[in-house]
Amino acid sequence: MSIFKDKRFSSLKEYTPGEQPQDKKYIKLNTNESPYSPSPAVLSVINSNEAANLKLYSDPTCSELKKSIAAVYGVDPKNVFVSNGSDEILNFAFMLYGNVAGAVFPNISYGFYKVFGDLYGIDYKEIPLLDDFTVNVEDYKNTGKFTVLANPNAPTGIALSLSEIEQIVASNPDTAVLIDEAYIDFGGESCYKLIDKYSNLIVCQTFSKSRSMAGARLGFCFADEEIIKDLELIKYSTNPYNINRLTAAAGVAAMSENGYYLDNCQKIIENRDYTKAELEKLGFWVLDSKANFLFAKSDKIAGEELYLKLKDKGVLVRHFTAEKIKEFNRITIGSREQMEFFVAAVKEILGEIQ
Ligand code: PMP
Repeated sequence: MSIFKDKRFSSLKEYTPGEQPQDKKYIKLNTNESPYSPSPAVLSVINSNEAANLKLYSDPTCSELKKSIAAVYGVDPKNVFVSNGSDEILNFAFMLYGNVAGAVFPNISYGFYKVFGDLYGIDYKEIPLLDDFTVNVEDYKNTGKFTVLANPNAPTGIALSLSEIEQIVASNPDTAVLIDEAYIDFGGESCYKLIDKYSNLIVCQTFSKSRSMAGARLGFCFADEEIIKDLELIKYSTNPYNINRLTAAAGVAAMSENGYYLDNCQKIIENRDYTKAELEKLGFWVLDSKANFLFAKSDKIAGEELYLKLKDKGVLVRHFTAEKIKEFNRITIGSREQMEFFVAAVKEILGEIQ
């Protein structure tokens, strides 16, 4: 790194994205993408006139996109913010609310929370999960700090109930509470309707998982109008055209075919149940996931060894090196064929080491 940069960044440890190999074709079960294609309307809009319009800037207000999201969820467009991936909302929220009184989030959760905490010099506390990898709800009540929770949590997949989330939001009336619902469409209960009742709540979602658009980079959140204005302030102070034309058009098209995505979520849930049952038959401990991934470990093989051996067989899963979770792997749920291939590969590996 150069000698020219600000000292504040000298010890910053960046977020490490999951592997995106460009060389070889893997069964990719490592970054929680959807195995299913975007819906027909999304594919046709990308190939239509909108491509020719790329010479023009996109609409900085994203009004059509906001309207289409608002219509599907039955909220007012003024309670919607859209972003370049939901990572951008997390970024803006940490920037806006993290240094008011510090921040709290679980010690095992989405790795970007800590990176944003470090990036903005926030005094943050990582609260340990309980031994069964669940979040202890009491720990998040009356924090007096910017409170961030992924629900379902990642990489565990374990979800809190709507009433538990409400207790947390209600007990922190003077600080912003961000509920990251990146994986909510796979069986969890969204808390977005609570935005009418709690002006401190930000409910963040994404088109990357259930809506098959990870490569388009599109996130959104629901919140009180004043919070939306805060987010717009940061957007217009950093990158007013944060949503490109093709992504905005794709987002509107995706919202017009919501049923297609709901069906895909149902298939993912069925494939998750199948994979969990198969892994349990093989002696794995599999956490109770409400996400499009499973978090599992086996006493028969170390987490890293299983990850490497699966990679050799052409299956990519996600392995984390943090001490408390290093024996686990996170397995994205793909199509039934992909999961059958994965289960067969695991069986082969366990057979080979015995
Ligand atoms: N939150 C969680 C919990 C995630 O796992 C991810 C995906 N890595 C994100 C947010 C960000 O997703 P995106 O920026 O693709 O919307």
